[in-house]
Parts: sequence; C-alpha cells; structure tokens
Amino acid sequence: MTPWQRLRRIANIINLSTPLGLVLCRAAGAQCKAGPRGLVIAAGYRWSLPHAAAFTVGNVVVYRADTATAGRDPVLLGHEEQHSTQYAWCLGLPFLVLYFLCAGWSVLRTGNPGTANFFERRAGLAAGGYPDREATLTGNGTDNAQRTKRIEASHDPQHHRYRRRHRGGGA
Ligand SMILES: [Zn+2]
Repeated sequence: MTPWQRLRRIANIINLSTPLGLVLCRAAGAQCKAGPRGLVIAAGYRWSLPHAAAFTVGNVVVYRADTATAGRDPVLLGHEEQHSTQYAWCLGLPFLVLYFLCAGWSVLRTGNPGTANFFERRAGLAAGGYPDREATLTGNGTDNAQRTKRIEASHDPQHHRYRRRHRGGGA
C-alpha cells in the first residue's frame, strides 16, 4: 500500500463512509474480504438497489458476483477505486449527496445517470459501463443513420442495463 492509499483508507474510516459500507454489506448478506490497495471486496450483494453489478461505499467495493468472481476484473475495480478516492476528497458521506445530484443532472441531460455525471466521467465512463454520448455526438466520419442509432441505444435504459450487466459494469 502506498502512503496515499494508507491515508485514503484512514480518511474513509474517520469520515464514516467505510463503516457505512461494512454495515450495509452485513445487512445485505454480502461477504467481505481484504482487497488490494486498502480496499475491501464484498461479494454476493443481493438487494435490488442500486442497479449495478458493482458499487462503492468508502473503501468497500460491493459486488453482486460471488466470491470467486468479485474483484477479478481490474478495469472495473480500478473504476470503483476512483470512487473510493472521491469519497475521501468529499469528506465521506457528502459524496453520496453530490453523486446523486450529478446523477440526476446526467439523467436530465443524457437519459442515463453516468454519461454527464462528473464523478463517473472522472472514474472512467467505459470502465464503468457508461456510454460516452458526447463523443458519439461529436464523432467524425460516421453517417447520420448510424449516429442516430447509437444515440438511441444510449437513451434506451433496457439496452443500457443489458450492456452493463453483460459487461459487468459498475456504478
Ligand atoms: Zn462508477
């Protein structure tokens, strides 16, 4: 663990976000184990919300997948780790309020909670399974029909959910 990762772990304990994550996992029947870089990997989360294959509370990265699969995808784990860092910068629980405000703004602008969400953009849209609509809109060399089709697809929540589940995307 680097000094920064150690500091992040301590910060997210003091600001209560990691304790909240651990309590949530216990209540939802998920199994926790120590992960890399000071993270905690929780597997087997079963509650219906949030609609994501993975999400992060403090240093706890929570997966719907079982213990054999949870935390194995380095791209998704790297994305969730960015959220862990964002908790530390936001002094813990205020992250949740700011995140939901940004998610609401993103839904209004793009039809999904990630594409225009400051926190998801910083954590990496592709790694989190979110479409980058702005890149699609400004992309060169694509014909209009194809472009429209892609924009429609990114607006279709069913398609998005499928894509995220299919690719194991996270919140
Ligand atoms: Zn995310």
